Amino acid sequence: MSEQDPIVVRCTPELTYRYAAGRYGSRFLRGLKEGRILASRCRRCPRTLVPPRIACTGCFGRMEEVVEVPPRGELLAYTQVTFPFLDPFTGVKRPIPYCYGMVRFEGTDNTFQYFLAEKNPANLRVGQRVRAVFREERKGEMADLVCLEAAE
Ligand SMILES: [Zn+2]
Repeated sequence: MSEQDPIVVRCTPELTYRYAAGRYGSRFLRGLKEGRILASRCRRCPRTLVPPRIACTGCFGRMEEVVEVPPRGELLAYTQVTFPFLDPFTGVKRPIPYCYGMVRFEGTDNTFQYFLAEKNPANLRVGQRVRAVFREERKGEMADLVCLEAAE
C-alpha cells in the first residue's frame, strides 16, 4: 500500500429511522390496515387521486374529501425487475425476478405503481384487470398491500 492508495473503511451502518406519514398518508395507511384503498377527490376538477394528497395535480386546489375506491383497476404498464435492491417498505431485498406495474384503480384519474403478483411479464398485458391483495394481519403500513394480482 502506497501513500497514494485510498484508505478503505468497511462498515455496515444500522439506520433506524421514523418519519411522519402526514395527514393524508396516515389516512391512506389506516385504509390499508382496514383492507381499503383510499383516494382524495377534488371538488373543482373533479379529479380523484390515489394515494390521497392534499394538493390536486390538475388545478392545484386543496383536496378536502377522502373517498374509498374499489380495490381493483386496470394495468397500464409493467416491467420485470431483475436487479435486486432493498424494498423500501420492508428493508430487505425482494427476491428477483418480480414484476412492477402502473395501475389505475377504478374511479381514479392517476396511476398507482406497485408490485405485481405475476413474475413472468409474458403473462401480463396492458389493459388487464388487477385487484389488490392485502395480507391477513395488517399493521397500517405499505406492506399491508402485498401486491396486485390478475383479476380475470
Ligand atoms: Zn383539482
